[in-house]
Amino acid sequence: MSDQYTFQDPTTQYAQPTFEEQTQDGPGLALKMDPEPDHGEQTYRGTGRLEGRKALVTGADSGIGRAVAIAYAREGADVVLSYLPEEQADADEVVALIEAAGRKAVALPGDLVDEAYCTSLVAQAVEALGGLDVVVNVGGKQQFAESLTDITTEQFDETYKTNVYAMFWIIKAALPHLPAGSSIINTSSVQAYSPSPTLVDYASTKSAINTFSKALAQQLGPKGIRVNVVAPGPVWTPLQTAGGQPPDKLPEFGAQTPLGRAGQPAELAAPYVFLASQESSYVVGETLSVTGGMPTP
Ligand code: NAD
Ligand code: MG
Repeated sequence: MSDQYTFQDPTTQYAQPTFEEQTQDGPGLALKMDPEPDHGEQTYRGTGRLEGRKALVTGADSGIGRAVAIAYAREGADVVLSYLPEEQADADEVVALIEAAGRKAVALPGDLVDEAYCTSLVAQAVEALGGLDVVVNVGGKQQFAESLTDITTEQFDETYKTNVYAMFWIIKAALPHLPAGSSIINTSSVQAYSPSPTLVDYASTKSAINTFSKALAQQLGPKGIRVNVVAPGPVWTPLQTAGGQPPDKLPEFGAQTPLGRAGQPAELAAPYVFLASQESSYVVGETLSVTGGMPTP
């Protein structure tokens, strides 16, 4: 069958627009999307690039985080998964896939907006895995608003807490445990460079993540800990179908890219594997754009 290693035309590798208009409440579930995203379940092969590594991945139940968790396990890592309790159905599938890869999966649901959860997440991850050497912040909140006057203080707060504060709290708690050689990977967006008019709060968190990561990379480089970022373009995930986009924009989601289609979560896995692995030993403070060709600096 066709997988990520089959030579082929990337414009036709996955579904092209249009998608069905659809909407979900809350964080949304991958298993309720039409079409269901590809997280690499059938397409990602591991080659031992993360043998014996101990990884913490937030937002690991669905979308990009799920693709990362599956790939990491198939590359030989044990994985702690963070997600919201209402996403248990998606998370159960990821746990089963990690275990099928012969690796340990530790599910620790909770709310990233809560500093106490972020701190205990790291403590429990260290305990369960016997250490930690990869920290991947993928969890994030994106809710569109037509006007700035529609953004409540509560939404602004939640977007910043989920996207920026949780990253800060998790890395701060993890640092005392990370040996030289460890990787920290944060998740920005093309929105940091080409913000949509409806995503003022979200887009600004993504540029904060970029700059936070570049500063921290300067600080941690001398300790042998590498900090890098992945900046995805439009990717077919629950985030987008659960209020990330106005529902009437969904059918054409991704059509504006040079490849003419949305990315699938599985197409983000390899960049996160690369940045975690020793292969990227001289890559520090970099933002790797995976946008289907949408230009970034
Ligand atoms: P997704 O909905 O599958 O993943 C986001 C995850 O964040 C959820 O599964 C959930 O587990 C987690 N999350 C959200 N709020 C939380 C909270 N309060 N507590 C705990 N967990 C919480 O969608 P995705 O698109 O894979 O998003 C992953 C990351 O990719 C996000 O940081 C997002 O900003 C970024 N991103 C996505 C796109 C895209 O087009 N999908 C583009 C650029 C960047
Ligand atoms: Mg989810």
